[in-house]
Amino acid sequence: MYGVIVCPRCKRAKGVDLKQKTTTCACGFEIRIAPSRVRARADTARELASLVGQVSAELAGGLAAYRKAAAPARRRRSRDVHLRIVGVASKPHDRAGRLRAAAVELTRELEVFSLGDWTRVLWNRRTGSTER
Ligand SMILES: [Zn+2]
Repeated sequence: MYGVIVCPRCKRAKGVDLKQKTTTCACGFEIRIAPSRVRARADTARELASLVGQVSAELAGGLAAYRKAAAPARRRRSRDVHLRIVGVASKPHDRAGRLRAAAVELTRELEVFSLGDWTRVLWNRRTGSTER
């Protein structure tokens, strides 16, 4: 039985033979192989290789998402997005048209938008004149 474990120091995924008690990561850290640390299991070494890739991709994806959410640059950009959408959404003359334009633009820019994004756009549109 093989397994994928993640190094606690450098957070890299590593494939191991679960018969071993410890393994040394590429970073030099000696990892104790505990069942609770095994992220995925494989019967063959061949399966293990693709599992390591999969876990690495998951780790990278989670990290990228975390960095994206935490980055101040992203927040700045998304504020510009809100302002741009406010501009686009104020063009239609009826309320339903403005709401639809805001929803379409939010979806296009952010793919997934939160209630926070939504209220920000709507709030900005109503209070836009006082903020300028
Ligand atoms: Zn490591």
